[in-house]
Amino acid sequence: MQFRSTKAHEPLASFKDAVLRCLPQNGGLYVPAEVMDLRQFFLYMNSSTTYPELVATVAPALLQGELNPFSASRVAESAFAFEPELIQLDENFSLLNLCNGPTGVFKDFGIAFLAAVMEELLKNNGPAMVISAVRGETGVSLAHAFNKRKKLTSVMLYPSGPIFGLNPSTFVPRGGDIIPIQIRGTFDDCQRLVMETIQDRPFSERYNITSANTINPGRLLAQVLYYLYAFIKIKQSLQGEMMFSVPCGNFGNLIAGLYAWKFGMPVNGFIAAMNRNSAFDGFIQGGKFTPHSLQSTISPALDISIPSNSERLLSFYEEAPAVMRNMIFPTSIDERSTQLAMEKVWKKYGIIIDPHSAVAFAAAEQLSASRDFSGHVHIVVLCTGHPAKSADTIFNAIGRRVEIPGRLNIFHKETDPLAVIESQLDSLEGAIASCI
Ligand SMILES: *Cc1c(COP(=O)(O)O)cnc(C)c1O
Repeated sequence: MQFRSTKAHEPLASFKDAVLRCLPQNGGLYVPAEVMDLRQFFLYMNSSTTYPELVATVAPALLQGELNPFSASRVAESAFAFEPELIQLDENFSLLNLCNGPTGVFKDFGIAFLAAVMEELLKNNGPAMVISAVRGETGVSLAHAFNKRKKLTSVMLYPSGPIFGLNPSTFVPRGGDIIPIQIRGTFDDCQRLVMETIQDRPFSERYNITSANTINPGRLLAQVLYYLYAFIKIKQSLQGEMMFSVPCGNFGNLIAGLYAWKFGMPVNGFIAAMNRNSAFDGFIQGGKFTPHSLQSTISPALDISIPSNSERLLSFYEEAPAVMRNMIFPTSIDERSTQLAMEKVWKKYGIIIDPHSAVAFAAAEQLSASRDFSGHVHIVVLCTGHPAKSADTIFNAIGRRVEIPGRLNIFHKETDPLAVIESQLDSLEGAIASCI
């Protein structure tokens, strides 16, 4: 598959180049330049197909010739010791649980695939360095995915504040492959520094630098696969229409779903579920997200004013505005409804979902109850965060304590970064040089 820029006119890039360079030279973000037809693959797969099998079959088809079936099998095996899980609640709703990865967040899926596929793509190349802006659990997810990957070093830029969950024996000076650096500034400063680093050709070419943030199209493509997985698990029991409800922050997850649809998955729509910080109305009317002040909520991963994937979303709307209006249903959910959704899913189905997933569940119920959708529609709600990450919020909503699985305990352990620097390119170069 070839990739194009959302903005600039420039030659198409191969998957390998798009993944290893990450950003088009003249601006914009990489998006698939072709519409693939994957129907033949996922129509014959069924509920007994495992996730690694699906990845090993669909990835080579998506990446035509750039990833052969043997490489794809290696990628699938080494990336996915965990699987998504489809839980059918009743004839109206299912949950797609994406929290079985090492850090309990759906982002594990994209990051694990990206790290494994980069190792594979670098087989006949020199080493590469991955620089990413991280906060919360993303750093741990990266540390996990890039641990002991040949030819890869992962530099993680954290904003001011404590860093949790890393194991110092995995740091580069101690023979590992990660370099955690704290930036005196905010997460936005870290993101800006990542962009500047990749755009600074001498610097990025010296180390062969790319990023594992969602600007990297390899992460997005990996997320297409769990939508297909949900579809093959449920297709036999589908009576009518099918939709997905996606809790949206930076819109990476939603965009991956849109690609799954473009590549042939028969789905009738996507609910873009947001909390009260929704900026979608302005986007639909004016074609861009305008900065607004954020209110903090019980679903903090959705508290975003300018989504980093807005250019990719816009490119869908530019291609076919009328189709997109029938395909995407933006819904804003308030705090009380989020709590009520957690309570309802617990009482009715005996399942605890986290507040981000609850935003999506509440939005799904709202749409399902609305007159327009009185016909039969089955909605798959994406569960993006493990309940253990939001134990207090959940306790307030349903009055129960969530069990914390052993693997998620590391998040309480604070670690020191290898360097603390100003948000400047030369400081970053200096810090990296002193570590390797
Ligand atoms: C990152 C995150 C989201 C938002 O996903 P996007 O792809 O940015 O829209 C939703 N829920 C949780 C738990 C997250 O960590």
